[in-house]
Amino acid sequence: MKSVPAVVLADGLRARLAAAARAALPEEACGILLATRDGAVLVDVHPARNAAGERAGERFVLDPRDHLAAELVATARGLSIGAFWHSHPGRSARPSEADRRAAWPGSVHVVVGLEPGREPELRAWRLEAGRFREAPLCG
Ligand SMILES: [Zn+2]
Repeated sequence: MKSVPAVVLADGLRARLAAAARAALPEEACGILLATRDGAVLVDVHPARNAAGERAGERFVLDPRDHLAAELVATARGLSIGAFWHSHPGRSARPSEADRRAAWPGSVHVVVGLEPGREPELRAWRLEAGRFREAPLCG
């Protein structure tokens, strides 16, 4: 089986995602990661509201208005939409079945796991043929 391409974070992005995940507790944080135009490096994060309402502690629904805004910002800055990210309050960074069903084919997802008593854990996943495969996360 071919290897999954690595996901590369620019300097400081890992810490920013961990901080945003903690700030959103007890809800799941979510947002869009902007990449260089060629998609090679994730360089910035565009915040998004979690529109999951009462269930925001266990899942996320990325507000489509924020997704649209991220598209406009990316275009204006000569960037692209590189990935999506969200957090898992009290859980590992492994994607859930709900995550799998909601993800677009080929999309990349960075998940921040916030397990009690542990440092935030960041892992990257790419949806291929209907299932998530872990991608090496660099940076
Ligand atoms: Zn999830």
